[in-house]
Amino acid sequence: MKIYASEFAFFLRGQARKNLKLLVLYCFFLFLMVMTYAALFTVLMEYLEGRHYSFFTGIYWTIVTMSTLGYGDYVFSTDAGHIFSALVTFSGVIFMLILLPFGMVSLFLAPWIEQRLRYRPKSQLNADYNGHVIIFGYDSITRALTRKLIAHHTPYVIVTANQDEAILLEEEGLHVVVGSPTNVTFLKNIQVAKARHVVANLSDPLNTNICLTIRSFCETPIATMIDEPERSELLRSAGANRVIPLKRILGSYLASRATTLGATAHILDAFGKLLIAEMPVKSTPFVGQTLAEARIRQLTGLAVIGLWERGTFTVPEAGSVLNPLALMVFAGTREQLHALEEIAGDKDQTDLVMVLGHGRIGCNAARFLERRSIPFVIIDRTNNLDCMDHITVIGDATNRHLLLESGIKDAKGLIVTTNDDDTNIFLTLASRRQRPHMRIVARSNQEENVDQLYAAGADFVISNASVGANILNNVLEGKETIFLTEGIDVFRAPLPPALAGLSIAESLIRPKTGCSIVALELPDSTDPIVSPPPETILTEGMGLILIGSPEDEENFGRKFRNGP
Ligand code: ADP
Ligand code: ZN
Repeated sequence: MKIYASEFAFFLRGQARKNLKLLVLYCFFLFLMVMTYAALFTVLMEYLEGRHYSFFTGIYWTIVTMSTLGYGDYVFSTDAGHIFSALVTFSGVIFMLILLPFGMVSLFLAPWIEQRLRYRPKSQLNADYNGHVIIFGYDSITRALTRKLIAHHTPYVIVTANQDEAILLEEEGLHVVVGSPTNVTFLKNIQVAKARHVVANLSDPLNTNICLTIRSFCETPIATMIDEPERSELLRSAGANRVIPLKRILGSYLASRATTLGATAHILDAFGKLLIAEMPVKSTPFVGQTLAEARIRQLTGLAVIGLWERGTFTVPEAGSVLNPLALMVFAGTREQLHALEEIAGDKDQTDLVMVLGHGRIGCNAARFLERRSIPFVIIDRTNNLDCMDHITVIGDATNRHLLLESGIKDAKGLIVTTNDDDTNIFLTLASRRQRPHMRIVARSNQEENVDQLYAAGADFVISNASVGANILNNVLEGKETIFLTEGIDVFRAPLPPALAGLSIAESLIRPKTGCSIVALELPDSTDPIVSPPPETILTEGMGLILIGSPEDEENFGRKFRNGP
């Protein structure tokens, strides 16, 4: 079906589209001609022959005559009438039988056949091709990654074994090659050896095979996605340099954001000794206070570098109020985080989390909760055959009675993680209606549904595609960026030489780029200066750790990094 759609699309593009307009105009011209002849027919019959016929008979006669069918059921008997009939037949031959088919063939059929014959999806790249990213397996994750690569002008190529898919992707303007991902000759032909990186995003067994095949002839770095984290070692031994257990990462993200319990900071990443971690405001005693009143810095040494609330990230100021539903992002050492956990300490054992959907992501979310002894209930339509550990309530999560019976009224947190975004949106909306203060986190399978999920009332939405693409992109760029969520990066950069000797305020990093300095790393010390005050002087050899949106990060690169 898709393939017919793509053929049809051919006629709606470029020159074919212009030709289509021409055809419509021509048909209009023919229509006018038929109408005129039909009117003339009735008039001439009336005046020359004294016979009366309707206008519709005129149309019928004109079409029969122009198409040279000439049934002979209505005929003129005068000379003038014969001349008129001959004229109609003659223009019919010219305009209907010669020009129309000729136009159809030359304007539509021939270009279409030509493009079909000319179209051979590429199955190799020029020998001088290099530095490209090769992507095996096109889905919402690699689609988001491709967009990033295009934005950064990084050459890439998508590999597919399916010619129809190749045609569709090429039609979207993407760079595609067709061939088997485990055929050595094909892999050599697409210059794998000279590629910058390979991304394997197919099934675990196929990814393993790709790694082995590529390792048989070159050392190009390979990043692979993996469904079952237990298989990581296997993939590494097959030659993968980075194995990304995306479903586990997604599961942990969802679970860590669904619970206010445990009072454990969820560590997002580390820059040497400096940890970036998040914790829900609700699990701390600071609810309702301003940042200045909370005195977190004085009590623990930690710097609050961000606040997440319903999908919006802000760099907090002294007057920012800590809302119970917000999530604080901290920068500091492990000891400082422990100090915070001590303060946040008392666990409320009645916290209950509902997990809707027991696929791999739901299962990983459950494991995360289990490790922190947080009680949970899982609901799924079917049993997860890969998991023997979790007792599942079997039933449709959209069934209100099932949710009530399973204890949604007592739940403090809800994880919505089915594989269907419509269901996720529905479940989020329905649960939000019923429980205005419950913490709801939802997974979005397609990037375009993130906004709808927030609109439906989710506190946090995690998009498979953008998390996956961000992680992959960071791996490709060898960058020490961490993923906070859509739209925010923490990254490391050496102090641009031009800024040495200036204070942070004088450096104008924030006004010029939008990035804020989270910490300074000194060359001779392992302890970073977290959240340095604006009067701190920047000295040569320092490292900066910055936070900002991807655009801010790009700004920083353009303004400061592209030195000599
Ligand atoms: P992933 O591995 O990415 O989590 P899956 O497709 O394996 O994705 O998991 C999604 C799970 O959601 C499946 O187990 C499916 O049965 C479940 N699911 C989908 N719709 C509903 C629903 N309406 N009610 C309950 N469970 C559902
Ligand atoms: Zn499970």
